[in-house]
Amino acid sequence: MPELPEVEVSRLGISPHIEGRKIKAVHVHDKRLRWPVPETVHQVEGHVLRSVSRRSKYLLLQTDNGCLILHLGMSGKLRVVPAETGHYKHDHIDIEFDNGQTLRLNDPRRFGALLYSETDVAGHNLLKQLGPEPLTEAFHVDYLFERSRGRSQSVKTFIMDNKIVVGVGNIYANEALFKAGINPKRAAGKISKARYQKLVPLIKETLTSAIEQGGTTLKDFTQVDGNPGYFAQKLQVYGRGGKLCMVCSTRLKEVRLGQRSTVYCTQCQR
Ligand SMILES: [Zn+2]
Repeated sequence: MPELPEVEVSRLGISPHIEGRKIKAVHVHDKRLRWPVPETVHQVEGHVLRSVSRRSKYLLLQTDNGCLILHLGMSGKLRVVPAETGHYKHDHIDIEFDNGQTLRLNDPRRFGALLYSETDVAGHNLLKQLGPEPLTEAFHVDYLFERSRGRSQSVKTFIMDNKIVVGVGNIYANEALFKAGINPKRAAGKISKARYQKLVPLIKETLTSAIEQGGTTLKDFTQVDGNPGYFAQKLQVYGRGGKLCMVCSTRLKEVRLGQRSTVYCTQCQR
């Protein structure tokens, strides 16, 4: 599933090819995505794409006549290809530009989305409840510490809550807690400020390093046979349950927290 780093890398991969170009047409080959693609997406036709930005895992394609909201769901991939390029199975959406290029969404599982917001996209129902972006200054130690007080839920579930902070997916929560030496099952409200001081920069560092690793795949966004937006990452705990800790060689433990696989070291994480 594309997580925040994959979505950010997708943004970096597609935006140089389409920003500033006029949208010629939006072709919807199959509107049965997570929500039916509304007719209003055609409102952007004939308008220049001013910017491609990201909020949480939503890509925002802003024009002078409203904004397209694009989500990759579980399996979505974006490519920028010449408009005449033949379609593959699961190519559901084409956003065609005046330079002969088209932004193409391929999504086998169809949990992705394309929606339209006429005004104030930040106030859109999908976006207005979201917590701060993890890589901005709005996400800082005092903020996270204050929000954690009185909470008995596990710290891992807490940092994965989009209302607290967006984009800390399961992989990144596992990895950041390992690096911070915090047991993922510990109650969020019982963790000291000093430990949050360690955790917050490690969340930022884990996400930033993933985005940097994905940066090596940017050329894939314009290649029909590439694998855009998905990249191998160097992980210390995620997916390594039962294997040995890379720091102390203790066997890593795997449990489920909030229905999500959680891997940690009982020696390194307290
Ligand atoms: Zn260890």
